[in-house]
Amino acid sequence: MFIDVKDTIKNIKEEIDIIKNELTFEPKLVSLVVEPDKSTLSYLNSQKRSAKKYGINLEIVESNNLVEDLQKHNEDRNTHAIFVARPLKKGFTELDIAKNISPFKDVEGVSLYNIGSMFYEKELFIPCTAEAVVKIIEDFTDVKGKNVVIIGRSTTVGKPAAILLQKHGRDATVTVSHSKTENLKEVTKRADILVAAIGRANFVDKSFVKEGTIVIDVGINVVNGKVVGDVSQDVSEICNLTPVPGGVGSLTTAILMRNVFRAAKGEF
Ligand code: NAD
Repeated sequence: MFIDVKDTIKNIKEEIDIIKNELTFEPKLVSLVVEPDKSTLSYLNSQKRSAKKYGINLEIVESNNLVEDLQKHNEDRNTHAIFVARPLKKGFTELDIAKNISPFKDVEGVSLYNIGSMFYEKELFIPCTAEAVVKIIEDFTDVKGKNVVIIGRSTTVGKPAAILLQKHGRDATVTVSHSKTENLKEVTKRADILVAAIGRANFVDKSFVKEGTIVIDVGINVVNGKVVGDVSQDVSEICNLTPVPGGVGSLTTAILMRNVFRAAKGEF
């Protein structure tokens, strides 16, 4: 069975509509691009279409000095939110963004302040994909005390999803596995809920799961011009699986747009 995320996206859109009604101006999102290659520009064009649909003024800015440009837009009162397109040019790292982006404009939730706030369970902006994963799980089931296994320990998905799922009140029991994990299938078979954030097409097949597991597929991989997840589609025959495309990715986009409205509204 496939998990339908339409209602979860609808809830985010309703939140956007509430903030939109309170605002007297159009929020402005600046997307900084340091490596304007074909696939990055194509991603940004689709981001621009989404932004327009949501009523956000998106400006795409080519950046030759990421740190300086972050600081400039941090101070610009007309810029409410900042996004940085990946990949980054040689010489700049994720840590440069984390250290230099204003936490109040950091709609991707990657700044040191926002990551730290998550540890203290006082979130401002949290990494959008990790939030999407948690929202889908919570809308589908009660995670309290459940065994959640995450495959992947990236800063933007695996690690923050683990922190969020074990938050007091949510109370999942979380295991994070990765490329060095021994006997991975033994670990994943213990999962009530499995999150795949690996970046390898169709990596998780039926042999990784027990029947009835809730499987959240974060992967976005292009195979022969087609977008596929990290989980093989036949897993849906025995588990509840999120679709790719139209699952985590769609919700992540909605959450990013909602964060732009939150940043524009301010009141932190
Ligand atoms: P990453 O490359 O930063 O991390 C991948 C993780 O997978 C690592 O921790 C690594 O240890 C683990 N891994 C790799 N090979 C493994 C193996 N054989 N066994 C176990 N673990 C293994 O990737 P990421 O940024 O977390 O992205 C993961 C996937 O999610 C990619 O396909 C990416 O495109 C996708 N993604 C989707 C969204 C979305 O909005 N849906 C957002 C971000 C990333």
